[in-house]
Amino acid sequence: MQLPSKTTPPQIVLEKMQQLRSQDYRWQDGKVWSLVYYAGEEVYQLVKEAFNLYFSENGLNPTVFPSLRKFETEVIRMTAFLLGGNEETAGTMTSGGTESILMAVKTAREYARAHQPQIKKPEMILPSSAHPAFQKAAHYFDIVPIVVPVTSEYQADVKAIEQKICSQTILLVASAPSYPHGILDPIAEIGKLAQENNILFHVDACIGGFILPFLQKLGYPIPPFGFEVPGVTSISTDIHKYGYAAKGASVILYKNREIRKHQFFVYTEWPGGIYGSPSVAGTRPGGAIAAAWAVMNHLGEEGYLRLAQATMQAAQKIKEGIQQIEDLYIIGNPCATLLAFGSSTVDIYAIADEMTQKGWHIDRQQFPPCLHLTVNYIHTSIVDQFLADLKEATKRAKKSTVRNITNKMIKGLVKTTVKFLPPHWVSKLTVLSSSLIKAQPSKKRSAAMYGMMGELPNRGDLHELVLNFMDKLNSFENTSNSKQ
Ligand SMILES: *Cc1c(COP(=O)(O)O)cnc(C)c1O
Repeated sequence: MQLPSKTTPPQIVLEKMQQLRSQDYRWQDGKVWSLVYYAGEEVYQLVKEAFNLYFSENGLNPTVFPSLRKFETEVIRMTAFLLGGNEETAGTMTSGGTESILMAVKTAREYARAHQPQIKKPEMILPSSAHPAFQKAAHYFDIVPIVVPVTSEYQADVKAIEQKICSQTILLVASAPSYPHGILDPIAEIGKLAQENNILFHVDACIGGFILPFLQKLGYPIPPFGFEVPGVTSISTDIHKYGYAAKGASVILYKNREIRKHQFFVYTEWPGGIYGSPSVAGTRPGGAIAAAWAVMNHLGEEGYLRLAQATMQAAQKIKEGIQQIEDLYIIGNPCATLLAFGSSTVDIYAIADEMTQKGWHIDRQQFPPCLHLTVNYIHTSIVDQFLADLKEATKRAKKSTVRNITNKMIKGLVKTTVKFLPPHWVSKLTVLSSSLIKAQPSKKRSAAMYGMMGELPNRGDLHELVLNFMDKLNSFENTSNSKQ
């Protein structure tokens, strides 16, 4: 495709975009259970306006835009105090949880280089529930990720972590709470380990940072997880999640400026001048910083408490509703507004497919197979409809339909095929799998694919399959062939 040769009037461009957008999932109706956070029309309009006001400003050089600099430092300071920090706490705004985590890991590596130069192959210990951003950081910064299993309650296992600590360990990681199951890790115990062994300790509060403190204030039984816990040296939290800011707003915080110093990058030899940059990004959108400041100042503690209370009540109602559906169970003991549920009697992915038919978008998870809900304020009005649909979907999925049998046959076929192939042939399975997936009658039904992927004996093939999928997703052919 080439750039259009002629100019098109803005109105026509916008109309085309509106038409395409109307075919996306309707998050505005509360039908999407991840990705989008909405706190009501007033907040939404304010965030948009604040973002637009700073649409052109660049956070790269704060001395040119002192107002932006003020917003950023205030956002960092307010966030630090929210998470048990004090005057010593230091931080940076980043584009999101991933960048915050990348920075925490890179900082730990530099900190170790400065303080423990004898470490040659730095390691970081991760509970298996930790966000993949840590794996990404390990991949980017050449840190060895040591993954330890979680307990039967899906919580970070302190004993397992302790066993893996060695002379090369530079960082311990825990989640507050974990994304997959919404479980709060034992922060105080891991903090103690970190202190005893003189290791940095990162708490990933990307999803929890803007809701757990308010739930605590409301009296929910959530143990301390922030800087008030001895041993915690850095925390990441996303304002673009439960902070209800515009996308592109997260904060990485350190116990003090001495640790943060190891995050910064400086190059003094460039003909373009002396270059300093705090985080991964060079140019940084002023809008994201401004919108975060605006929403925090608008809502204040009062607003966040109101949102947290309503959201928590919705989440609890959903939890109870799921527990009342005979074939479903909640995974572990989720502490806040994220939860996952599975089934030991019905194919949970088939339930997800039934829900997709009803217009819901729910993420599918593995180990164990389950479905994930990030309850946010937008869901407070659709709890009853969701539970009714879920009940119906479970009933339908339970009935053994022709489709289910077909799925089972496909899974069985793949399994037996794999058993008889020599290992180096198994990669052919990639091709086989994708053609089988394409052969599914409905694009909206993916139970077969998920079931199959979960059962692939060779995870390396799955890796390749996903790479191929991403390649296709990021290629032009994929979008231009669709019906639009
Ligand atoms: C969302 C999330 C991240 C990653 O944040 P992004 O903004 O998607 O980059 C990391 N950890 C947890 C626990 C999260 O929920």
